[in-house]
Order: sequence, then structure tokens, then C-alpha cells
Amino acid sequence: MLVDSHGRNINYVRLAVTDRCNLRCFYCMPEEGIDYVARQELLTYEEMVRVINIMTDLGIEKLRITGGEPFLRKDLMDFIRQVVRSPLKEIHITTNGTLTKEFIPELKDLGIKSINLSLDSLDRERFKTITRRDELHKVLDTLDSLLTHEIPTKINMVVMEGRNTEDIIPMANLAAEKLVDVRYIEEMPFNGTGAENSGTTWDFRKIYGVLQSEYPDIRKEQVPSGATSTKYSVPGFQGSLGIIAAYSRTFCGTCNRIRVTPKGMIRTCLYDQGVFNIRDLMRQNASDKQIGDAIADAVKHKAVDGFAAEKQRGSFPISESMSTIGG
Ligand code: SAM
Ligand code: SF4
Repeated sequence: MLVDSHGRNINYVRLAVTDRCNLRCFYCMPEEGIDYVARQELLTYEEMVRVINIMTDLGIEKLRITGGEPFLRKDLMDFIRQVVRSPLKEIHITTNGTLTKEFIPELKDLGIKSINLSLDSLDRERFKTITRRDELHKVLDTLDSLLTHEIPTKINMVVMEGRNTEDIIPMANLAAEKLVDVRYIEEMPFNGTGAENSGTTWDFRKIYGVLQSEYPDIRKEQVPSGATSTKYSVPGFQGSLGIIAAYSRTFCGTCNRIRVTPKGMIRTCLYDQGVFNIRDLMRQNASDKQIGDAIADAVKHKAVDGFAAEKQRGSFPISESMSTIGG
């Protein structure tokens, strides 16, 4: 079992299988994209499977496949077919939904536990402005197919001043009409530009205020330990609502996660800079035991929360894109 020095059991890994993306969400990367990692620097699928096997031996039970856009990586389905045979208890995927639809029947057959679909607006023009691509129709088709195939689905919407606050209630209405969980995310400064960014003006309180005034009967529900999202029910809704205080970092106390970036950096906190490179260890012929020890040691030194991790960055302010970390 992986336990950090704050007594938290780490049993969840988020693996970013690529840093590449076909959208250009302005809060994640600049219009011209980011400097993608050279292909040979990316973890190979073989290396990823090895990392997962080592981690499951250490007690990791849950995997989230993310990116970049995971479905942009060639042969992703072959990789998923391999990892479903591992001892992992749960596999989840986060996707922008533009390339996902054709794989949904097989994802269902493979037992993928849930899909997080990023969707920041239901309005074509606003979607286009935010993602710099005119692909809302593809994401909505993916959402329909996920619901038809009864794959538990969460919609993630980053809430941004002047961009999509008028979508807060229409998005909530999706949860009224469909069995889907809508979660509002605070914007973080991981936008890949290096520009000074002081974080969100739409924090969890302000988002909740909008929901509460529209739905006075909204009620807070219990969430499992380790959850990043609060959960709310509204009478008559098929699905639920939630808020992810990603910038306010209210959920760090029960954090159960580590991350593996596309080039193999282990990040024990979203806000740290990466603690060691697992790809380099593998390519230097380290044994599974040596790699497992390095993971356990990194976990032991996991920062107590995102503020402490950010402080440890010293003179390296946040400038990287979420697509190079894995959301
Ligand atoms: N491309 C996939 C997608 O968009 O779902 C997976 C990777 S994306 C980096 C994962 C999640 O991170 C998305 O829900 C996205 O909205 C979120 N994200 C990216 N940049 C963010 C930022 N600066 N602040 C808050 N959330 C962000
Ligand atoms: Fe791509 Fe996801 Fe980043 Fe948008 S949030 S640019 S879809 S990686």
C-alpha cells in the first residue's frame, strides 16, 4: 500500500498518454499549440503497461487515462485492451469527445467505469471561441452515444468570466433531463502560455451562488473520500451537479492521486513540478523493485496540499499546459 507522510492512501493514478491535442482550449494551450514532446521522449505503451503493473503491485487500484487528447494517440484502443487485463479495479477516461464516438461500444464492452467529457459551452459560437475549433456537434454526438450505451458520464465545464458563465444553467439543465453529472471547474493557471495568470475569478462560492439562486432546493450530498468534486442534488433532476475547486484547492486533504505525464514525470501533486522521471529509470534498465521503491519514496514526500507544492516550485511559476500534465 502507498501511504504518504500525511497518512493518505494513494491508490489512484492519472496517466497522460499524450500531450498532443486537436483542440486549442484557450485556458489550456495557446492558439499555435505548445512545443510537443518529441515522439521518442513519450512513454511507449509498453512502458505505460509496465508502470501500471508496478503501481498495481504497490496498491494502485484506479487509473484515469487522459492527456492531451487521449484518442489522438495512435492505437489507444490496443493499449486499453491491454490494461483492462491488469489487476486495476477501475479504469476511467477523460476526453474532449471529438474523436471518441466510434470507440464507445467497445469501451462499454471493455468495462470502462466512467467517462469525463469536457464541454465548456452548449452554444456553437462560444464553444468555437473557447476551443478555437467548430466541433461542438461531435462532442454532443459523443454525449448521446455515451448515454445510449449507459456508460456513466460526467461533463466537466471550466467556468470563465466573459466566456461561458451564461452556460452554467443550460448545462445544469442537461443534468435535469439526462442521467449525467455536470461538474463546474475553477479555472487554473495551467494555460501553457507562461503569461502571468492569477487564476479564476469564478471560484466555487460564486458558482454555487448561481446554482443556489436558480435551484433553491439544491442539496449537498456525500462524496467518497478522495473526490475532487462536491456533489449536489436537485429535486427532479436525473443527474447531479458538482463543483471542482481546482484553484481554491479545498479537496487536497483527502488527495489519493499521483500523475504520470506523457514523458514519464511522476507528479505527486498537480501543482508540483514533477519529482522524478520514471521513463528514464526504465530506459536505464532499473528493476521493477528499484522503480517501485522510487515511487514509494516520491509518495512519502508528497506535499500536504497544492499550496505547499506550489511554494516548493520557488522561482518556477506555473506556465505549463494541462495537456502536458494530464487533467
Ligand atoms: N483533452 C481531454 C479533455 O479536454 O477532456 C483530456 C485532457 S484535459 C487537460 C483534462 C481536463 O483538464 C479537461 O476537463 C479540461 O477542461 C481541464 N483543464 C485544462 N486546462 C485547465 C485549466 N487551465 N484550468 C482548469 N481546468 C483545465
Ligand atoms: Fe485539448 Fe483537453 Fe487541453 Fe482542450 S483541455 S486543449 S481538449 S487537452
